[in-house]
Amino acid sequence: MRLMNDLDGLKRTCYCGEVREEHVGSRVTLMGWVNRRRDLGDLIFIDLRDRTGLVQIVCDPVRSPHSFDAAKCLRSEYVVCVIGRVVERKPGTENPNIPTGNVEVLADTIKIFNCAKTPPFVVRDEAEPDESIRMKYRYIDLRRLPMMNNLKLRHEIVLAARNYLSANGFWEIETPAMTRSTPEGARDYLVPSRQEPGRFYSLAQSPQLFKQLLMISGVDKYFQICRCFRDEDLRADRQPEFTQIDIELSFTDEEQVYDLVEGMMKHIWKEVLGSDLCVPFPRLTWDEAMERYGSDKPDTRFGMEISDITDVIRDTEFSVFKNAIGAGGTVRAICVPGCAELSRQTLDRLTDKAKEIGAKGLISISYLPDKEIKSPVKKHLTQEEIIGIKQITGAEEGDLVLIVADEFDTAVGVLGRMRKEIAQHLGLIPEEAFDFVWVTEFPLLERNKEEGVWQAAHHPFTSPSTRDLKLLDDLDEQLKGKLRARAYDLVLNGVELASGSIRIHRRDIQEKVFELLDLSLEEAQEKFGFLLDAFEYGAPPHGGIAFGLDRFVMVVAGANTIRDVMAFPKTTSGSCLLTGAPSEVSPDQLKELGLRLIEDNTDHARARINQGKTDSPPEV
Ligand code: ASP
Repeated sequence: MRLMNDLDGLKRTCYCGEVREEHVGSRVTLMGWVNRRRDLGDLIFIDLRDRTGLVQIVCDPVRSPHSFDAAKCLRSEYVVCVIGRVVERKPGTENPNIPTGNVEVLADTIKIFNCAKTPPFVVRDEAEPDESIRMKYRYIDLRRLPMMNNLKLRHEIVLAARNYLSANGFWEIETPAMTRSTPEGARDYLVPSRQEPGRFYSLAQSPQLFKQLLMISGVDKYFQICRCFRDEDLRADRQPEFTQIDIELSFTDEEQVYDLVEGMMKHIWKEVLGSDLCVPFPRLTWDEAMERYGSDKPDTRFGMEISDITDVIRDTEFSVFKNAIGAGGTVRAICVPGCAELSRQTLDRLTDKAKEIGAKGLISISYLPDKEIKSPVKKHLTQEEIIGIKQITGAEEGDLVLIVADEFDTAVGVLGRMRKEIAQHLGLIPEEAFDFVWVTEFPLLERNKEEGVWQAAHHPFTSPSTRDLKLLDDLDEQLKGKLRARAYDLVLNGVELASGSIRIHRRDIQEKVFELLDLSLEEAQEKFGFLLDAFEYGAPPHGGIAFGLDRFVMVVAGANTIRDVMAFPKTTSGSCLLTGAPSEVSPDQLKELGLRLIEDNTDHARARINQGKTDSPPEV
């Protein structure tokens, strides 16, 4: 078989997936991969594939003995050039499943650029079930059309965002990836310095501080499609490196940010999906979101909102409710439409689920179609209480009400999760809908559950709400949790798409917030002195937002994981199965960086330590 070394003057005239009826009668030159070859003896069919899709090639020994002979040697994933004439397919042989299905190309020349080993999996639309094989052979996985389309969608979203921001006066400016630790609340990836042994750069968790410095520089409107690095536990929607559409502007308030972002979403939807988005987006304060949906990322595509039934059962004799209210807790409920007649086993499963996610129990009341009431706690509740619960939750005959009595966070948190899972299970979520909602007025601080310390709910540069500024001087622990921030999230279909805030632009306020976070003045100066100092040289009011691009594309693409919208993602344990990163490095490299590995108990590690020893290097 003769392989072509170069194009030999050949030039592609059209992509495979773009051949249509309008090409009938003309000659095309196509280049791509053999997706499948079917040898019928007197005819050979080839599905030729490139990034746009497939087209059928017909090799006929009478018409072109040469191409027929060449086609005989082709195998899946061979790379070829096909020259031929486009014809309509004979009636009855069309393939309605592919856009090129009404036509085919009668080959008169086939040139082979390269052969291919039998691939580890067949390139077809459905994904190979073992994702680790897909990741190891990512270049083959990406040949699948759904993956190719995700990459294209990502490109189009980025392009539309860039164009929109540029047209609105924003400049794209790069900021350092290797920097000092940036406080987005995750662990840093560290890069040891060769020139200054024992010192490290951090890979930026976000460009937060640099974009603020750009505002102080007078740049006024900035954006960046920026890689961020966070060393945290990974899951379906997290990767160690991910991309943000990062935005900052000066002389702004929340309304201007909302306006800008809504305009950008409208533009992206029009450009990329060809549809009109309705703006402005609805807004919920964080408190409302928690009350009604039990989540700061409410999925607003369906109802089943949480109701507070505490008032109707305030004087109840039923000990579960009574005790919860007595302990300062609350009683909340959701109404599940049309599910009054769920079986005992299903209700038990729901109760187990509720317990698994933190509730002490789950109480059900079924309002049966014949107006009967079925509930394990029926005898503990009065008729007025049962009717009152029905009214408050909006339940009708045929509906099921699920109740959790607990502390506020647990009660709404559990019902919020149950709400989503049940809706998914019952198919109540309109898959095609895009439901945006702003969540505003987030808490300024949150208590770290493990360490019990207060930390910034967004990041420490977020401005407290204007009405809370005066409280900062004299705060007790209770009040700390009540402070609100000028922070907002944009949520789409229950996924946090973007997060941002109006920033602090005064040194005195920034210092007070650091104090709330138990950061001493010395520590604050040591870590963020450059920002505090900059505030003293004319810092304008400013604010911004950052979109998680990968999640954004994932939601629009309807993908289940951000790995499917990234070209070369890592596994949930942070490794790249394609390149083998992270990999060991040579003792010389470690020595040059002044590093050695500390001892652990494995022989393997001990061997590495012995190799890596240097005079008196710092330990990592
Ligand atoms: N830097 C923030 C983040 O990465 C976004 C912002 O406040 O603009 O979440």
